[in-house]
Amino acid sequence: MRKKILAANWKMNLLRDEAFHLYKEIATFSDSKEIFIFSPSLYLSELSSIDGPKIGAQNFHFEKFGAFTGEISLDQIASCGANSVLIGHSERRQIFNENNEVLKLKVDAAIEKDFDIIFCCGEPLEIRKSQNHVEYVIEQLKESLFHLDVLQLKNVSIAYEPIWAIGTGLTATAEQAEEMHLEIRNSISHVYNVEVADSISILYGGSCNEKNALELFSCPNVDGGLIGGASLKASSFKEITNALYGLH
Ligand code: PEP
Repeated sequence: MRKKILAANWKMNLLRDEAFHLYKEIATFSDSKEIFIFSPSLYLSELSSIDGPKIGAQNFHFEKFGAFTGEISLDQIASCGANSVLIGHSERRQIFNENNEVLKLKVDAAIEKDFDIIFCCGEPLEIRKSQNHVEYVIEQLKESLFHLDVLQLKNVSIAYEPIWAIGTGLTATAEQAEEMHLEIRNSISHVYNVEVADSISILYGGSCNEKNALELFSCPNVDGGLIGGASLKASSFKEITNALYGLH
């Protein structure tokens, strides 16, 4: 059985007290569920002192230490009590120019430190319009992820996030999500084997909210969600959690 996973990407939102309160509210319904909170890194240390869902960093540098002003390392993140990272989010790719090569270095660094990884992939609108979305996404995975061996891949979940759906209110239809998730799973099967493909959780992200979550999570190859905007309100995130865990 694949793990059902829900991840909240808080991005550059929430002041310290707001983050603290939201985390505590989420902790009231996260028990025994696989929930990750990708908080601003500033708050990781404080959040890790509260009993609640796993916490992770939205970004890090692949080097271990040194003269990289403004950056943070995996050891520093671990020293604040977090052992999970997001890699390959489209905002990191597009705004901060992280390409597949850099993302591969980040994947290797996180694997070396035994972090859990949620690796994001997804196509921009023009690629979707030109019907090349499947090839585009599989190439992202081949160039940054598929060099890992089977054991290393156990630390990884994949989040498919069509860029045109992130923060836009436009959601992929359940059919579009299922199509891509199946393609991703088939590609894992080709590169590794069917057992590995069946064991990896593939999350959907992109304007997933309390209204559409159930339909998206009902797709056989959608194993959970990476949630941006709708993770900033405990009530919405709770409904999404209930949709995933069958508590509706
Ligand atoms: C995201 O940033 O990963 C995301 C899915 O955002 P939103 O849910 O706001 O589209």
